[in-house]
Amino acid sequence: MTLDVLAIYRETGALRNGHFQLTSGLHTDSYLQSALVLQYPEHATRIGQEIANHFRNEKIDLVVGPAVGGIILSHTVGKALGARSIYVERKDGKLIFYRGFEIKPRERALIVEDVVTTGGSVQETIEVVEKYGAEIVGIGSIVERSGGKVRFSVPYRPLLVIEARSYPPSNCPLCKKGESVTIPGSRGL
Ligand SMILES: [Zn+2]
Repeated sequence: MTLDVLAIYRETGALRNGHFQLTSGLHTDSYLQSALVLQYPEHATRIGQEIANHFRNEKIDLVVGPAVGGIILSHTVGKALGARSIYVERKDGKLIFYRGFEIKPRERALIVEDVVTTGGSVQETIEVVEKYGAEIVGIGSIVERSGGKVRFSVPYRPLLVIEARSYPPSNCPLCKKGESVTIPGSRGL
């Protein structure tokens, strides 16, 4: 049976309505707080297995995710694939490897991210990993929230595709109504 990802986000309270600013700078009226899903190891494990299933035959050496959302996911996908799990972190606006993580040339890497909206963080992660000469085999995510519009140069397999409204701040109906905007990760969300 396929995993009902949306049901898991709903039942864990991870699907939020309001006025939010995403990492991309876009504003949106709903937000998926994956940490509320991934706080349950059984959900994290099951989701990791489901993402891994799309890449079982790809001989993945390592799974890479952008922190913070990608850390737990990278771990559970890596476990399901018998691969290493590492992550990039944002410092001074740029994603980089810390912690002494190493990638050897020609290693086969899978990139994972919890929620993909514009694909910006994933694309940045790809570029960091490619600098080491690794081969990007594919991309997995729990949710793609742009209605299937996000494209990458390698196969991309989200578990769930939804279409969430998002707007540039200059053209945001919620801003026009004067509603204050929440930046997830701050103020306790
Ligand atoms: Zn707005």
